[in-house]
Amino acid sequence: MTWRATALTLFPDMFPGPLGQSLAGRALEQGVWSVEARSLRDYGIGRHRVVDDTPFGGGAGMVMRPDVVSAAIRDVGRAGRPLVYPTPRGRPLRQDDVRRYAAGPGLVLLCGRYEGIDERVLEAEQVEQVSIGDYILSGGEMAALVLLDSCVRLIPGVMGSEASGTEESFSDGLLEYPHYTKPASWEGRDVPDILLSGHHAAIAGWRQTESETATRMRRPDLWAAHLARTGQDTGGPVSLAADPERLH
Ligand code: SAH
Repeated sequence: MTWRATALTLFPDMFPGPLGQSLAGRALEQGVWSVEARSLRDYGIGRHRVVDDTPFGGGAGMVMRPDVVSAAIRDVGRAGRPLVYPTPRGRPLRQDDVRRYAAGPGLVLLCGRYEGIDERVLEAEQVEQVSIGDYILSGGEMAALVLLDSCVRLIPGVMGSEASGTEESFSDGLLEYPHYTKPASWEGRDVPDILLSGHHAAIAGWRQTESETATRMRRPDLWAAHLARTGQDTGGPVSLAADPERLH
């Protein structure tokens, strides 16, 4: 069964964009997933197909009209797919959400432009509002592509090795350990000895410590959640096998 994405956008040519390349692109050709981009302009008002207007209450910029956006939404066969609006006002996208979306039938993505979309249509159509980070993009299309990329790689058959989908950052609430490959010595920098030892239990222990150290130093939010989940005291000692200088 094909995982189906529909994007509602003023710039349909932005799809599939980079997702037409590499593993996602091959899976797209094979019909593992599909993406249809529909132009919001087609639902615009009057001869000029107007989609936006000035904000009530004043202020800079334009707002996308609820009648235009709702007409586009109602024209899409949602077929049980969540309707997601990428917006900096949304809750932060997390790997748990990505897993949930990837396991479902697909997504309908509403791409905003200008200052965003009239709030009433977001309420009326039960739109899930999701942010891809605390910064402002010029439109929702790139955020929609990010969201699609994160989902598509989890669809069975898209990625080469299934294991790399389960062991990576966030899968256990921690950042991943660092990676090394050949050559073992490069410009005076050696791969940590333990990785060459063939001692699997010791390597697993080293990687766990590296994960914990990176998370504690770079992502105090994830670290606090990890400690709460594992029942550890937030003030507790952390083994610092990693070199903190390396983590910047
Ligand atoms: N005035 C808005 C920003 C509008 S940016 C505000 O301050 O919240 C225009 C469009 O880009 C938004 O409607 C949204 O679809 C998209 N966008 C911008 N930044 C985003 C982000 N961090 N995550 C997801 N979508 C984003």
